[in-house]
Amino acid sequence: MKITRILAYRVELPLHETTYRWSGGKSVTVFDSTIVRVETDAGIVGHGEVCPLGPFYLPAYAEGVRAGLLELGPHLLGEDPRQLAKLNHRMDAVLKGHPYVKSGVDMACWDILGQFAGMPVCELLGGRFGEKVRLYRAISQESPEEMAAKVAGYRAEGYTRFQLKVGGDPDTDIARIFAVAEKLQPGDRLVADANTGWVQHEAVRVAKAVRDVDVYLEQPCLTYEECLAVRRQCTHPFVLDENVDGLEMLLRAKSDLAMDVVNLKISKLGGLTRIRQARDLCVSMGIAMTLEDSWGGDIATAAIAHLAHSTPEEFRFTSTDFNSYVTISTADGAPQRVDGFMSASTVPGLGITPKMDVLGKAVVVVE
Ligand code: MG
Repeated sequence: MKITRILAYRVELPLHETTYRWSGGKSVTVFDSTIVRVETDAGIVGHGEVCPLGPFYLPAYAEGVRAGLLELGPHLLGEDPRQLAKLNHRMDAVLKGHPYVKSGVDMACWDILGQFAGMPVCELLGGRFGEKVRLYRAISQESPEEMAAKVAGYRAEGYTRFQLKVGGDPDTDIARIFAVAEKLQPGDRLVADANTGWVQHEAVRVAKAVRDVDVYLEQPCLTYEECLAVRRQCTHPFVLDENVDGLEMLLRAKSDLAMDVVNLKISKLGGLTRIRQARDLCVSMGIAMTLEDSWGGDIATAAIAHLAHSTPEEFRFTSTDFNSYVTISTADGAPQRVDGFMSASTVPGLGITPKMDVLGKAVVVVE
């Protein structure tokens, strides 16, 4: 089987809650998502999605996905999309870095492999563990009172895992953590994700102020070394995210005992092939994971569901149903949240069918 054409579509994804805010005053109102379509000479077509969290979260931006595909795509025509390791080797040989550009192509090729094999992607990624995947709800940064008031509504939607966006003024963040923690019920979990927003002394101060609160601290500072210093001065369960973008950092963080949980994002690692390597390594090392992506709609959510569902349950900390945050549906067959959980499709491939009328005209065509 050979890749004959690669296309990309640009889709704007507005939010039900209008704006998503996190550390450092960063926010997004409409997400710019790229849906990648890989066509083959066998008539099988696969789809993937890449949606950066704006241009200022990771070293990734929406137009960069499309520009990167124009650079990468011509080198992939004629390659067999089912031979994922070979395909990724080829992608790395012709375009250094830019993992997020490769992510959508890799995801689409897993979709093709699943359709060819007649198996859902989660089974190809290792097997379906358990019945369903637990989801967290991110609480966009607002005043402590407004954030605390959101918990009841999200719980009514079934969520029991809450990720609080902090990383702002430390005094306000301390108030945010206390206010939301007060709304928790037995069995709930709370994560305070600073998204690199605190300077080291601020992070230590926040950790000490909330020392008796049952809360996980996620990525307090910009650099790995700062996070490690904070980690060594606090007693909370600790999550790393932005700093862990590959196997080398995973091994280093494990060796330093720098984290209890790691947040792995498909496009941050460079696709399902790469994140599967990292996921399997974490399972071997005994580290639980938040398995998700930077953002997305139906197709990214489907890929997250397959990745998470193929991970042993004790190592799944949480995942995200981004398609419930956004107002536009781009595909049929994507997982839908039921009582705070979702499940990977049982249909071969990713189990999604893109809505071509929503995708519109391709903005990238490589043939
Ligand atoms: Mg995070």
